[in-house]
Amino acid sequence: MGIAPNLSPILDHLRDVVLPDEMAGDDALEVARCLFRLRNVVDHLAVILTGVLDRCGVAASQGRTLRELLMSLGCAPSVAERLVRVGGALPLLPTLAAHAGDGVVSGEHVDAIVKGINHIQARAPGPVGEEARFAQVTDLLGQFFSGATPAAIGDRARRLGNRHAAAEGGLPAAEDRSINTLDHRVTSDGRLQLRADLDAEVGAKLVAAVEELSAPRPEPDGTPDTRSASRRRADALEAVLDIAARGGDIASAPRTQLLVTVPADTPDLARLEFMGSISTMTLERLTCDTAVTTVIVDGEQVPLDMGRDKRLFPAPLRKALYLRDQCCIKCGAPPGRTHAHHIVHWTHHGETSLANGCLLCPACHANVHHDGWDVVMGMDKHPWLIPPASVDSQRTPIPAYNRRTMRLDHAA
Ligand SMILES: [Zn+2]
Ligand SMILES: [Zn+2]
Repeated sequence: MGIAPNLSPILDHLRDVVLPDEMAGDDALEVARCLFRLRNVVDHLAVILTGVLDRCGVAASQGRTLRELLMSLGCAPSVAERLVRVGGALPLLPTLAAHAGDGVVSGEHVDAIVKGINHIQARAPGPVGEEARFAQVTDLLGQFFSGATPAAIGDRARRLGNRHAAAEGGLPAAEDRSINTLDHRVTSDGRLQLRADLDAEVGAKLVAAVEELSAPRPEPDGTPDTRSASRRRADALEAVLDIAARGGDIASAPRTQLLVTVPADTPDLARLEFMGSISTMTLERLTCDTAVTTVIVDGEQVPLDMGRDKRLFPAPLRKALYLRDQCCIKCGAPPGRTHAHHIVHWTHHGETSLANGCLLCPACHANVHHDGWDVVMGMDKHPWLIPPASVDSQRTPIPAYNRRTMRLDHAA
C-alpha cells in the first residue's frame, strides 16, 4: 500500500498566485506555457488516480459506476468519460503515458490518441501486436507535435486503421460494421440530437428510406412544400419509425412506441419516457392515436390508471378511414404513414368513430394540433380542412386531399 501524497500545500500555493492585470508580453506567454503544462500534468494525475479509484473498488462499494463517482466529485459527464477511457488504456501505452506525465500533451489530445488506438484495434481482424501499436502511438503523437487538433488525430487514426486492416486482411472501412455507432443525447431544452457512423450497407438503407419518404408535397392550395429538405428528412425518419412499429401491416394499430406518465393532480406536468416533460398540447396530439400508452401516476410515480382503450381506432374502423380518406387529408401522404386523428379530442368527449376521425400524416397532424389548422366534418360526410388565418385570411374550407378535384361551391 502506497502513502497518499499531500497535495494541499501545492493547492494553497497555487491559490496564492496573483496574476497582475498588466505584464510584459513575453512574461505573459511564459506564464501561459507553464500554466497549460500544469493543467496537463494535473489532468494526467487525475487519469492515474481514476485507475487507482477503480482498483480500490471505491465506486463499487458505493453502488455506482466509476463514471458516476467522478461526476459526484464534480466532473462534467464528458470529462468523467474521458478519465475512465484514458485511465483504462494508458497502462498499455507507456510512450503516451510518459509524454502525458511530462505535461507536454493535453488531456484532450491524449484522449484523441487513445480513441484512435481503440479505433485501429476495432478495425483489425485480430489483436494488434505490440510493435504495431508502438508504431501507431508514435505516428499519432507525431501528429500532435506537428500541431494536429484532436479531430485531425481522429482522422489520422482512421487512415491508420484502414492501412492496418488492409495489411492484415481486414475489411475496408466502408464494409466494417464493428465500428458502427449510433449515439443520442437529450439536450437541456428536451430535444434529441443524434450522431451516427455507419457502414455502407446500413448507410445505404438509411438514405434510401429517408429519400423515399422525404419527397416534397405541395400545400393544400397547390403552393410548394414549405418544409426545408432537412426538415423533410426528419419527418421521413419519423415515418420510418412508425412503419417499423406497425410491422408492415398498415391497417394494424401501431405497437406501443411511447410511454407518457401524467401526474393525477398536475396533468400539465406530463412526461415522455426517455425525454422529459411535454406540453398539454403535445399530450393531446400524442393521445389522439394509439402509438402511446398513458399512465396516470400519483405524487410518488405510482400508476393509478392505465390509458383508456376507447380512444384507440380498432382495425375495422381504421380500414373504413382508409377507404374514405385514402391518404393524409392535408398532403396526400400514403395511408400507411398516417395517424387517425380525433376531430373532437377524446378528452373532450369526442367519440372514436368514422364521423369523428380522419387520416393525417405526422407532420400534418402537428399542423392541426399546434398550428391552427382545423378539421370539420362536411355535409358530404368527408373531412374538410380550415386553414389558419395566417395562411388564408378568409379561412375558406379545403376538401380532403382525395376530393380536391371537387369544386369548392359544392361545399358544406
Ligand atoms: Zn400530411
Ligand atoms: Zn390528432
